[in-house]
Amino acid sequence: MGLVQVIALGGVGEIGKNCSVVLENDDIVVIDCGLSFPNEEMLGIDIVVPDFTYLVQNKAKIRGVFLTHAHEDHVGGLPYLLNQIDVPIYCTEFTQALIKSKLEEKLPQKKLDIRIFKPGDKIKAGSMEVEPVRVTHSIPENCSMAVRTSHGIIFFTGDFKFDFTPVDGKLANITRLGEMGQEGVLMLLSDSTNVERPGWGPSERVVTQGLKKVFNEAQGRVLLTTFASNIHRMQQVYEVAAELGRKVAVVGRRMEQNLDTCERMGYVKIPKGVRIRLDEMKMYPDNQIAILTTGSQGEPMSALVQMSKGEYGRLQIKQGDTLIYSARPIPGNEGAIWRTINRLFNQGCKVVYESPTPIHVSGHAYQEELKMMINLTRPFYIAPVHGEPRHQYLYNKIAVEMGYPEHRTFTMKDGIPLCLDETSCFAGEAVPCGRVLVDNSGSMAGVPDEVLRDRFNVANDGIVVITVPVDTTAGEMAGDPVMQARAFAGPDGILDAAYDVLFDALSALSKDELKDTARVKHDAGDVVKRFIQKRTGLRPLVLPIVVEV
Ligand SMILES: [Zn+2]
Ligand SMILES: [Zn+2]
Repeated sequence: MGLVQVIALGGVGEIGKNCSVVLENDDIVVIDCGLSFPNEEMLGIDIVVPDFTYLVQNKAKIRGVFLTHAHEDHVGGLPYLLNQIDVPIYCTEFTQALIKSKLEEKLPQKKLDIRIFKPGDKIKAGSMEVEPVRVTHSIPENCSMAVRTSHGIIFFTGDFKFDFTPVDGKLANITRLGEMGQEGVLMLLSDSTNVERPGWGPSERVVTQGLKKVFNEAQGRVLLTTFASNIHRMQQVYEVAAELGRKVAVVGRRMEQNLDTCERMGYVKIPKGVRIRLDEMKMYPDNQIAILTTGSQGEPMSALVQMSKGEYGRLQIKQGDTLIYSARPIPGNEGAIWRTINRLFNQGCKVVYESPTPIHVSGHAYQEELKMMINLTRPFYIAPVHGEPRHQYLYNKIAVEMGYPEHRTFTMKDGIPLCLDETSCFAGEAVPCGRVLVDNSGSMAGVPDEVLRDRFNVANDGIVVITVPVDTTAGEMAGDPVMQARAFAGPDGILDAAYDVLFDALSALSKDELKDTARVKHDAGDVVKRFIQKRTGLRPLVLPIVVEV
């Protein structure tokens, strides 16, 4: 029997851009293909996707990309992978419904090969077999993935919690998880996002009570913002609104699209007469109106953010409105979210973002649920995923407390394979791996790191442009250099001093050196950059231009 390798191309040591690989012989199974969001230093970047070089290099071996569920951190990287290679995508009907229109938008020419599975199906993937198992999360049709290899099952929990009263009534298939444990799980790759939270997470059901309370207390309209994919939350809003005599309108293109799709497929059941169009709101008094809106992450173009600025043509915030913030900020978005909330308060809208009766619950397992998953699947090796290093550390600590010897727990790193043979598990040689920064320019290619560094420097310390006129035939200066600065604010006289240093440096160049424009450009930029940095600690972008006369 050969080696089985498990490789994360993203999603370990971080939360986001989940993408893992199981390799056995000449067969590769890919689990998920997600994106993550930029941090505050990634100026002008809209999303981050994994570097897919490894998959491109091994494309002939890929038997399929298997999607656990339709959240962006698990599916958002697909357009960027499919732009480079053709591979079949396996997912549930629901996941397909949510991803298909986005894929078609981004890759209009592409012939998509999407194959639908149901939980419990056994899908052949070369020498391996993949079996999705239903588990609960915050989105319908969410699955763990059992990858059967010749050494045993590699079990990806995907995102999960154990919710015994899920909104759609579809329970986790705990029996099957137990059977997997009996059959022999070689390695468990478990969600570890909420490992810091002790106990057992609350059921999605409790949110209904929280929503009812806010709906009851609100004098005017009730607005609720959540992720456009949070179908269950929207279902709850419809139910509560129907019970308490409110009509529900929806703003935000993606939310409307998702609702239409889910209603058509039966994933959302809207009580008769409750959903109204935005223009029908005027037929009802404010205390009979509820509005679902996108913008829970403070996205600049979202309906909610534009409303908070009074710039949304279709709907204005008014005194007496109540907004329920029914989501969790994705790290990095907090600033934008608080600014939006504050602007809403300024407009007379009360924002409920925390409440003793929860208005949002997490879709991820707490400590006791994580232990239960370990207990059911009884893996030989353990490797937490979907977590930052502190989550991985804590998860492994819990596993050790449960009796696992330390050498059977692993802290994975992106791009470093875990190799499994008959008797051991060890780290293999690194494969190409990293991140690709993408902006909304429409280009599928990444923004290079140098561009990002320049953006960062310009944004912080401005730009200094140096123009040097040179007679390259004679090898002499053809006039005085010119130095201009924008968005630069240093101490008085610093630019004059930098100019003198530049002038001296250029004067010191020999005839031959002056004939070499690349040399002149380099020296001019370098001397000014160093001088300003040394004197002030500032790092403006210094742009030297040599004009040949
Ligand atoms: Zn998820
Ligand atoms: Zn996730």
